[in-house]
Amino acid sequence: MTGAVTRSSTQAIPKVRLATVWLDGCSGCHMSLLDTDERLLDLAGRAAVVWGPLVDAKEFPENVDVTLVEGAVSSEEDLHRIRLVRSRTRTLVTLGDCAITGNVSAMRNNFGVNVVLRRAYLENDTLDAQVPRQVIPPLLKIARPVHEFVAEDVFVPGCPPPADLIFSVLSELLAGRIPNPAAKFG
Ligand code: SF4
Repeated sequence: MTGAVTRSSTQAIPKVRLATVWLDGCSGCHMSLLDTDERLLDLAGRAAVVWGPLVDAKEFPENVDVTLVEGAVSSEEDLHRIRLVRSRTRTLVTLGDCAITGNVSAMRNNFGVNVVLRRAYLENDTLDAQVPRQVIPPLLKIARPVHEFVAEDVFVPGCPPPADLIFSVLSELLAGRIPNPAAKFG
């Protein structure tokens, strides 16, 4: 008989639930993810993006398989978010040096919060100089890497990590394997 469709051939393989989170970073790590170019189509075939800068969702979802985290923990909002993300994520990946070590985000640490706010909102503003009291979440005293607050499972170094490295890490994760990208820098 031709054209027979078996039950198993119609059952779709569930996609990996993938999220990306942007804490205190410049977005360069997310840009590097986009730099995987047409390979994004390959990733999209294997993953469902359930949260990220381009996803219109109000709350970080439950039961996320893999979350990529860009940026350091710099504000009370970052801290609340990373704890929530950790509690709802099976494999948490710190993406880039800001998330892993603090890196650029931590350059403010030697100056103190007030000096940084004054520099950003008063000294560098020529139109309406004032430190915002709303919308901008309160800063923590210093910016710190993600692992100081929650456990990370995989870290992907670089500023930003190269697109090829991100793709290879994601390919492994989507296949259910835990990669060791740091070994590539050994
Ligand atoms: S690691 Fe580099 S590219 Fe990534 S958020 Fe930090 S400064 Fe930007």
